[in-house]
Amino acid sequence: AVRIKDLHKRYGNTEVLKGIDMEVKSGEVISIIGPSGAGKSTLLRCVNALEMPSSGSVTVYGMDLSDPKTNIDKVREHVGMVFQHFNLFPNMSVAENIMLAPRMIHKTPKEDAYQQALDLLEIVGLKEKADTRPTDLSGGQQQRVAIARALAMNPAVMLFDEATSALDPEMVGDVLEVIRSLAEGGMTMLLVTHEMGFAREVSSRVIFTDAGVIEEEGTPEQIFGNPQSPRLQSFLSKVL
Ligand code: ATP
Ligand code: MG
Repeated sequence: AVRIKDLHKRYGNTEVLKGIDMEVKSGEVISIIGPSGAGKSTLLRCVNALEMPSSGSVTVYGMDLSDPKTNIDKVREHVGMVFQHFNLFPNMSVAENIMLAPRMIHKTPKEDAYQQALDLLEIVGLKEKADTRPTDLSGGQQQRVAIARALAMNPAVMLFDEATSALDPEMVGDVLEVIRSLAEGGMTMLLVTHEMGFAREVSSRVIFTDAGVIEEEGTPEQIFGNPQSPRLQSFLSKVL
């Protein structure tokens, strides 16, 4: 589904990604863990073309993002992204937020888009909030709306960048449950998370990044139960 080859990303003289190679197959759930500044967000941003590689390549469902002939809007239709801060439009209802992209991009008729929004809200457990303003929801509810909004384009891959780290602790669980149910439903996902217990439970593979390189990767059992690299061991001793 996603193939990353020798990906380098520089900002000025600073090399943030120093040769990342990885592949995400359909249905895989890959967690990316690592210390602050490791380049995790930059890596995700390269996958939906919010950033362009300095060198190397990123291919999403056969579309090479560096190829000038690739339609980046098309790529983004296939890649849903959920950030730490959800940025819902405050002047629209919850349903309208979710309907926006299907209406604008797919020209979905209003009634169909509304029905789809209700279906998605049911998945994230917020069907009764369809006509509410996002500002009247809790942070955890807003983040679940943001997930529904990303799903509305029927993405082939979902990217989550610390989707729960801005939330009050009591709201984290509900959002993780939604992500977990997507994982169990076979959604292809790349998730950057500080929730190590969650990463261990839902991931098919875990990638530990540090200072712009993949330092170690493996099954959750290998990464959390039998870490090899000293840097991973030290990281885990701080976060577990
Ligand atoms: P965190 O866990 O804190 O979110 P991260 O692993 O997501 O960290 P990135 O946000 O990818 O790290 O940043 C990696 C490095 O790249 C950091 O040193 C950051 O300062 C730098 N960086 C990120 N974006 C830019 C930018 N637009 N311009 C310059 N430097 C940047
Ligand atoms: Mg980050």
